[in-house]
Parts: sequence; C-alpha cells; structure tokens
Amino acid sequence: MIEAMRTRETPEDRPVRVPGGDKHPSLAATMRAKTAPGQLELIQRLMNTARPGLADRLADPSKLKSWLVRYNLMTDEIPVQPGDVALVQSFRSLLRSFILQTASDAETEALNALVAKVRPKVVFCTGTSIALEGDTNSIDGVLSQLLAIVAQASMSGDLKRLRLCKNPECGRTFYDRSKNNNGVWCSMMTCGNKLNARTYRTRKTISNDEET
Ligand SMILES: [Zn+2]
Repeated sequence: MIEAMRTRETPEDRPVRVPGGDKHPSLAATMRAKTAPGQLELIQRLMNTARPGLADRLADPSKLKSWLVRYNLMTDEIPVQPGDVALVQSFRSLLRSFILQTASDAETEALNALVAKVRPKVVFCTGTSIALEGDTNSIDGVLSQLLAIVAQASMSGDLKRLRLCKNPECGRTFYDRSKNNNGVWCSMMTCGNKLNARTYRTRKTISNDEET
C-alpha cells in the first residue's frame, strides 16, 4: 500500500467551511458531501484554485505561499519564486486534464516529464506499506507530496470520483459519491437547479416558436 505523507494534518480533521453555510445549512451539508475524503481534499482544493470568471488563487508568489503554508505543504520560511508559480499552475492544469480524463498525449507526456523531474522518494515502512514522500522545503517537495496523494487515490479508486461540475460558469471540481459515479453537479441546489431551469426555459421558447 502506498501512503501519502502521514505526518500532516489531513483536511478531514478540519471542518469544511462553506461560504454562507451558516445561513444555508442544507447547502453547507451538500457541499461537505461533495468534498473528497482524506488528503484527496487537497487535490480537489488545488483544482478549485482556478475557476472560470474568478481570480486565480495561486496567481503570484505571495498567494501561492499562503496556500501552501495553510495546508502544511511548505514551511513558512521557504521563499516562493515566480517560476514556482508557473510550475504549480502548469502542474495543476496537467493534473486536471489527467483526472478528468481529457489529457492529450502531449499533456500526459508533459506530466510524466514533470514527475521525472520531481522524483518523489519511495520509502519502505514497517509491515508491507510503502510511502511516497516529499519534503516541505522546496516546490519539488510540494509537488511530490501532491503526487503521492494522487497515486494513492488512483489505486484506491477515489481519484476517478473527482469530477468537474457540468455548469460551465461554475467549473468547480467536486467529489462524486453517487452509486454509479455519474454525478454531474457540484450542487443540485445551486448549479443543478439553475441549469435545469435554463434548459426548461430554452425548450419552452423553442416549443413556442415552433407553434407560431
Ligand atoms: Zn457547480
């Protein structure tokens, strides 16, 4: 069994904060249900740092550093350079394509090249477990830690449950707990109902046009 970094606090240990969740408890519950288990939540959160119409939350060294330190992926005293931002943004983009199974051959090749450069460290532990480890002192170490989580989630089958919300204006990555792994909305209450209502209005307009 391959494990990711085990010393870090998992996102699961902390409650998921949903904006406006105190006013809309049912929406908050839905969003929590669409949150990936264990450390995979970090990958989900990484994907959601770039969404349509919203500012990139990793857009500069300062923002990237805050995000990495917040999730214990990097220690506070390590400097983050503009090149690190470009590297993480590229990793995020390639990983998104891989997870959503839309990666071109060139993207897969680029992701493999990036992994070859980062070289996660394989550590044999007690029993039969093997850990993939990355340090918290460099951007390569950060990517190693994230790759370890991706590798573990791929083998457990959890990775394929990360999906992109069908609402193109939303673009949120959510964790699909549906029985048949065919969920399409990050939230039925927000995106699902909104899009279904729009589709209904469009169909009604077409139908009215056809009648006249
Ligand atoms: Zn959505």
